[in-house]
This record gives sequence, structure tokens and C-alpha cells, in this order.
Amino acid sequence: MIDACPRCGYSLVGLPDQHSCPECGLDYEKDATVFREPRMLWKIMAILHGALALFGVGLVVLRPGGNSNLWMPLVYGVIGLVWLWHTRKPKRIILVSPNTIRIVDRYKPVEVYHMHDVGRISWRFVNGDVDIERHDGSELRTIPKRFLGSDVRMIKMVKLVKRYVSERGSERNAGSG
Ligand SMILES: [Zn+2]
Repeated sequence: MIDACPRCGYSLVGLPDQHSCPECGLDYEKDATVFREPRMLWKIMAILHGALALFGVGLVVLRPGGNSNLWMPLVYGVIGLVWLWHTRKPKRIILVSPNTIRIVDRYKPVEVYHMHDVGRISWRFVNGDVDIERHDGSELRTIPKRFLGSDVRMIKMVKLVKRYVSERGSERNAGSG
């Protein structure tokens, strides 16, 4: 159950279970599970380089007679800012609800796939990409591993989609039988 917009963080409390975010317009289902690319490393790198830059400036300020100069702190500062800029970029998100898969890439329009169109989803051992196929075996979408940044996240996402697909399959069989 999500209670804030996965893309912009706007509170969805009191809004319908299926609606679009009033702030950024992202369509959502509140029963969706959110998978997002990790940011931890980027944040750590930004903090680390910021700290190195401050430390370098401190050395120059505290030891004016020494041979320290401002080049290294400047370089660390710039690297720190680059990492910080990375963390400020919009996140890549995959939303999986019992009915839909929504792929939210940074600056691209949101892609929506309906669970009833999904025949098979599989995680490729060789490169970590995920293949989604239609019922006739044709390709619906390939999601590259870098989208969520880790095999663990990709596999978790695949497992959930598999569960929803098989639940749909058993419902369909029950209905026809
Ligand atoms: Zn939003």
C-alpha cells in the first residue's frame, strides 16, 4: 500500500486507490509495490568528497605558512557536486500492481503494461536484464539491469510479476472451468 507518490513524494492520503498524483501527474494504484534504483552509493560519494574538500580547505586555512594549496579541495568539491547532482536526478521506478506494470524512466513518458498482456517474465542470468513476453511469445519489453541497478531488485520485481501473472492464469482457468 503506497501513501505517497513514488515519483515526487506528494501525499496520496485521502485520494482514491487508483488515480493520478495531483503534483506530478503520475498514474498510480495504491496496491502497487515500488521498486526504485538505489541512491546510497551516490549519496555516500557526495558526502565523502564534500568532507575531503572541507578538510583540504581547513588545512590551507589553519596552516597558511605550509605548502598546501587550494587545488585538491577544489577538485574534491567539484567531484562532490557531480555526485550530488546525480542524487538529484529523478529516480528510475518500476511500479508493479496486480493489474499493471508501470516503468518510470527519468525523462521519458511513463510506460504502462497490463498484466493480462504478460505471458512470461524472466530474468536473464547472463546480463541481468529482464524480458517480458506476450502470451504468443513475442517481446513486450526488455528492462535492462541498470534500470534498478542490482540483480536483487530485478529478481524481486520479476518474482512479484510472476506471482500476479500466475494468479491471473489460475483465475482464468477457474472462470473457464
Ligand atoms: Zn507525484
